[in-house]
Amino acid sequence: MNILAHRALRGPNYYSRYRAIYMRLDIGELEERPSDTVPGIVERMSGLLPTLQEHRCSVGRPGGFLERLARGTWAGHIVEHVAIELQNLIGFSVGYGKTVDSYESGIYNVVYRYRDEACGWPPGSRPWLSLKPCSAVTTST
Ligand SMILES: [Zn+2]
Repeated sequence: MNILAHRALRGPNYYSRYRAIYMRLDIGELEERPSDTVPGIVERMSGLLPTLQEHRCSVGRPGGFLERLARGTWAGHIVEHVAIELQNLIGFSVGYGKTVDSYESGIYNVVYRYRDEACGWPPGSRPWLSLKPCSAVTTST
């Protein structure tokens, strides 16, 4: 998986009225491997991040994202929910996210809300290294 573009949308934007992180992802070979083809993915994801159970997703009720995971969704959508949940876990409550496919196979536009820009960057990017300082700030208050 490669991040092709990555930036903060610091005000109302094409995708939402919220400040958001935008990523253009190339999920590569995962395009041919939606989540319903990965044995045990729901159990493993909810084991790693139990609070994913609270995500309503398009289903509209708690557990909705895990239902989508069981029925089959793509890696970009999973990245969106993990990015949202990691922010929630360090004290920055967010819920909005959107993943939209593009006209190119395997390329997705992922957008998710942030409250603190430095803490909203995705894992694997340099700004995400600031997670520890963000976590320290939120736990000291
Ligand atoms: Zn979703």
